[in-house]
Amino acid sequence: MSTQQIVIVGAGILGLTTAQTISEKLNELGFKHEITIIAQYGPHNLEMNDSLTTYNEYVSPWAGAHFRPFPITTKEQKEEMKMTRQTLKYFKYLSENYKECSIKFIKGVEFIENPNEYYQDYAKYGYSEGLENFEKLETKPGILGFQYDTWVLNPTLYLQYIYFKLLLEFKIKFISKKLNSLSEINSIIQGNPIIINCSGNGLKYNGGVDPDSFPIRGQTLLLNPGPNYKSDKTVTIQLKDGSWVFTIPRPYNGGVILGGTKQINDTSLEVRDEDTKYLEKLGSIYFPELQKINAETNKPYFDIIRINVALRPGRKGGLNNSIEKFNDNKQFVINNYGAGGMGYELSYGSSLKTFENLLSILKIDNKSKL
Ligand SMILES: Cc1cc2nc3c(=O)[nH]c(=O)nc-3n(C[C@H](O)[C@H](O)[C@H](O)COP(=O)(O)OP(=O)(O)OC[C@H]3O[C@@H](n4cnc5c(N)ncnc54)[C@H](O)[C@@H]3O)c2cc1C
Repeated sequence: MSTQQIVIVGAGILGLTTAQTISEKLNELGFKHEITIIAQYGPHNLEMNDSLTTYNEYVSPWAGAHFRPFPITTKEQKEEMKMTRQTLKYFKYLSENYKECSIKFIKGVEFIENPNEYYQDYAKYGYSEGLENFEKLETKPGILGFQYDTWVLNPTLYLQYIYFKLLLEFKIKFISKKLNSLSEINSIIQGNPIIINCSGNGLKYNGGVDPDSFPIRGQTLLLNPGPNYKSDKTVTIQLKDGSWVFTIPRPYNGGVILGGTKQINDTSLEVRDEDTKYLEKLGSIYFPELQKINAETNKPYFDIIRINVALRPGRKGGLNNSIEKFNDNKQFVINNYGAGGMGYELSYGSSLKTFENLLSILKIDNKSKL
């Protein structure tokens, strides 16, 4: 049996998780393969990690990151919901067995000021499906409140954790390179590789990106919280006007995220003062315990460690998990991009789907192992 070449484009959370799942499962099957990750940015690019500068096509280190369910209203969302629940179970396993991955389970608390019919009828729309210790909370009239077990993680630590596993345990090769098209891979890796496209915004075979992709800008504040803050839960408040304010305590003293903005088709990677002021204003109303007191003026203030700005890879129709054929149908591309604001939440589930797609191309029937 010859060695199957597999090239994964992208070293964000989707590319790294996919590499790990595929590697583990092909090894279990004894299937001879070699995986190469080609990515312009990622944890293999240490210079970039040191500076923590933001980049147009690399969002993973700047995520929250936590899991927050929502009611399902479309077929695509149902698929993604399944993936989030597969990831939830997998993260539970990681948190119990590999503390160094930074994943921690805590309470997730949500308040919805103006709940629509889907939140009102939450069980019917899959919101509570697969959640442990789910409870409806007593709140003020007109406001819905829920709590459930959720996970939080430190994105930089988790990315590094997978990266070193891939490098040392699975012997995966990394190449730092900006590609202008997926077809360019054939001049780098010989042997008609199967290409797995985890490029976030969907780099195309012949250049350009998926026209259905669009950026969703997010700005959050990473805070060193005041002494009265308790880091035992995430809290999300959906305000009457449809906007959000949320807090995510980062495990192992990684600070607290106060977020966040969701600005569709906004491509600015600059920190915006008006966004910072907006977040500070909401924070002072809903989470005053996050503030410290200035010893000289006796006034409360937010001790900001860092301001995060990044572009979530949105896509009309959601995550793309399709299989495409090129080069007279001889070359396969398996897509796994367009995760929007859910890349971590669905990371493991979407890697299982990608593995299933890979098996169908390799004509291996392995349903029982999935
Ligand atoms: C403020 C904020 C908060 C968030 N909070 C959460 C949260 O709480 N939970 C959650 O699940 N998600 C959250 N997200 C979303 C999450 O960050 C993304 O869904 C996820 O990181 C997307 O991962 P990805 O691997 O698809 O893309 P990316 O991390 O962007 O990685 C893309 C990879 O492809 C490479 N690439 C792209 N084009 C090329 C090319 N032409 N040549 C070579 N390489 C290329 C890049 O270099 C990179 O390695 C948040 C995002 C933001 C901005």
